[in-house]
Amino acid sequence: MTNRLAKARRVVVKVGSALLVEQKSGTVKSQWLASLVDDIAALHKRGANVIVVSSGAIALGRQKLALPKGKLELPQSQAAAAVGQIALAQSWTEALAKKDILAAQVLVTLNDTEERRRHLNARATLSTLLEQKAVPVINENDTVATSEIRYGDNDRLAARVASMMSADCLVLLSDIDGLYSAPPNQKGAKFIPEVKEVTPEIEAMAGKPVSGVGSGGMVTKIDAAKIALGAGCNMVIASGHVEHPLKRILDGERATWFIAAATPLQARKRWIAGSLQPVGRLVIDDGAKSALMKGKSLLPAGVKEIVGLFGRGDTVSIVGADGAEVARGMVAYDSADALRIKGLKSSEIMKVLGAAGRDEIIHRDDLVMLAGER
Ligand code: GLU
Repeated sequence: MTNRLAKARRVVVKVGSALLVEQKSGTVKSQWLASLVDDIAALHKRGANVIVVSSGAIALGRQKLALPKGKLELPQSQAAAAVGQIALAQSWTEALAKKDILAAQVLVTLNDTEERRRHLNARATLSTLLEQKAVPVINENDTVATSEIRYGDNDRLAARVASMMSADCLVLLSDIDGLYSAPPNQKGAKFIPEVKEVTPEIEAMAGKPVSGVGSGGMVTKIDAAKIALGAGCNMVIASGHVEHPLKRILDGERATWFIAAATPLQARKRWIAGSLQPVGRLVIDDGAKSALMKGKSLLPAGVKEIVGLFGRGDTVSIVGADGAEVARGMVAYDSADALRIKGLKSSEIMKVLGAAGRDEIIHRDDLVMLAGER
């Protein structure tokens, strides 16, 4: 069981406010953070990509602004987030720097993962950061998000990030060590070590939000599990009340594992194949067709014709010279740009568009073969 984190190549670690911020003083628990960063550095060292989703902006900011205890009004919590996010980013930057790791702050809103064009942009930015061996530290852009367009909690945000980035393991560090069949203080409550599917029974086990600082609770964690499993990502709920919480998971400490049936790539391809009707068509030459059959990406050079109006991130169908559909994919250029770069070598894209674009018009990971993939 422990191997799922040990084997993971891309890990999203979600840290709740209650773990990171000392409730009384409203300051960062720096010793605990240092121990977590030790574990992150160990994952990093063995070549895994690590993405952090960290709460704590509001908890840190409310103290600095001396806001009253209890539930805050939306503008108050947004003001607190504005103040607290700087401190939060600074804590992560300093803690990671001690391990020679560069921190990168990324603030996202709901649309960044929900809307395809923005999803592609956010994915590209985060991928670039990971290639550069930086550790993205993500939070919701609380200061501008209004209640209708908020994730509202970082459990679901972390799951969306895991899904968007095709992560294979999502770690939710929590104030509880996992899922119980009933509230843990209730007599007869049983610990659930493993979940393969989020059934109505599992959902019923999630009680009401409990912690005083964060906005999560078991309900949002189960929602996160649904998102993660749907994206082919394993998820673990583990206690963050201990130092070295990731090492503890690796050592097999008690935690609840949610096990995905598919891989992230399979899930992503299913999402592309099953979503939206294609809104445009790319007609490709035989060379491109055989490249696709061999598992390559689609380059502009192999595209002969562009049909229809589409935006970046839309689904398009890829047809051969004979008109038969070969594949479907999420296109990296809108139809206007696609028209301008069709038939061109990747090195010529920059000259025509005046900006460096992607080499691929559809990246392999965003493409599903209909004629059978090799
Ligand atoms: N984004 C909020 C913050 O940083 C936390 C949301 C949550 O607790 O899940 O304060």
